Amino acid sequence: MQTTKFQKRLFGTNGVRGVVGKDLTPELVVTIGEAFGTMRKGCIAVGRDTRTSGETLAKAIKSGLLATGCDVVDCGILPTPALQYIIKGQFDGGAMITASHNPPEYNGVKIIEADGTEMGDEETLKLEQLIFDLSLSTKPWEHVGHEVNAPHLIRKYIKSIVDHFPHKIGSGMTVVVDPGSGPACITTPQILTEMGCRVLTINGIMDGTFPGRLPEPSSEGLRGLADLVVSRGAAFGVAHDGDADRAVFIDENGRFVEENQEFALVAQHLCHQKKGAIVTPVSTSQMVEMVVKNEGCTITYTPVGSIYVARTMRSLIENGKEVVFGGEGNGGLIFPDHQFCRDGGMTAAMMVFILASNGQQLSALIKKLPERFLIKDKISTSHGTKVVEFLKKAYSQDKLDQTDGIKIFREGSWALVRASGTEPIIRILVDAESCDGGQVFHKELMDNISAITKKNVT
Ligand code: MG
Repeated sequence: MQTTKFQKRLFGTNGVRGVVGKDLTPELVVTIGEAFGTMRKGCIAVGRDTRTSGETLAKAIKSGLLATGCDVVDCGILPTPALQYIIKGQFDGGAMITASHNPPEYNGVKIIEADGTEMGDEETLKLEQLIFDLSLSTKPWEHVGHEVNAPHLIRKYIKSIVDHFPHKIGSGMTVVVDPGSGPACITTPQILTEMGCRVLTINGIMDGTFPGRLPEPSSEGLRGLADLVVSRGAAFGVAHDGDADRAVFIDENGRFVEENQEFALVAQHLCHQKKGAIVTPVSTSQMVEMVVKNEGCTITYTPVGSIYVARTMRSLIENGKEVVFGGEGNGGLIFPDHQFCRDGGMTAAMMVFILASNGQQLSALIKKLPERFLIKDKISTSHGTKVVEFLKKAYSQDKLDQTDGIKIFREGSWALVRASGTEPIIRILVDAESCDGGQVFHKELMDNISAITKKNVT
């Protein structure tokens, strides 16, 4: 089964994003609302993260939707996965105003379908066409929509996660939560408290200027969290990105858990319980495949982007396959028993469950995972696609995978080279079984890309 990736003009892998007032204006967002309302009739749920521009842009998208006759339910500030959970089967679609991990000056729009998944490429291309053609069916005064506020709906999401696990499974466990001043301030601490944990927070007050750290939960930005975990003797620390669809972890010693290790640990736990497929992009470390196969499960690779993972999981299930788990090696994990999107709150709760079930410390569980050496690099060029095409010819004798960009396999290691869909760069990822081997492979690739760029791309 092959998932195809389409290049879009306005929407990236995760919706429309831009600097507010420059690339992303209220006028554009009104048009997106009108276009979405032209495509999907009925009642649309709207939510936003904590960004300062969120109120303006939420009003803009609602205005566009109402003008086309859609009714709108405003869920207020909440994590993207909370909105997706609320929408699932209860609304005709949704729109989330968020720029996820981007800096405070950014914002964006993510369009959600009635089943709670992000809009797929084919439908997004139709939506873009309506926006570019201004082919919008706005309604006369007697047919415009109505709006109601429903901030209480967030409770459904919190309850669904708490109810997913044994009652008070986290009793006796101390956890430090860093929601990064984002919408998880009102979800993750509550979820973990209801699971029985003792919860401390840092950056726990919603603030769209992100005074404590940037919305990307990088290891540098999480030093405050790490210090608090160690000083309070917590079992772990958990941090979210700006819309809390991702979760990353700090172990009890204050060390950042690399996201592929996080994925491998959760995959190992779930594959131990249930057999079936794990779905993940081609960029995920080999460590995950090793762990999954060791537990007697299979792995299915997709192009890079959580939407491709979610949709592949759905279609495997529709074809009668058992799917255990999915996600990306960036802390974005998808639990199909819960919903088909990345969910940071659910991931935090799952970590409580894993540690409580194993009775071992997080660092000990991480230590047992297979060791891999990752090198991430990027090259600035506006000819990324062209360079990747030349590389395919240059490496035609090697074992290749072309699901997304080019993945070159070599003696227990691989390298992935992809042209970014949103920035003028090529991304290079080497996943090797030894540090030296990885460095040699990386250098070879960088030299080849540089030679190709000089010779063939002007
Ligand atoms: Mg996000």
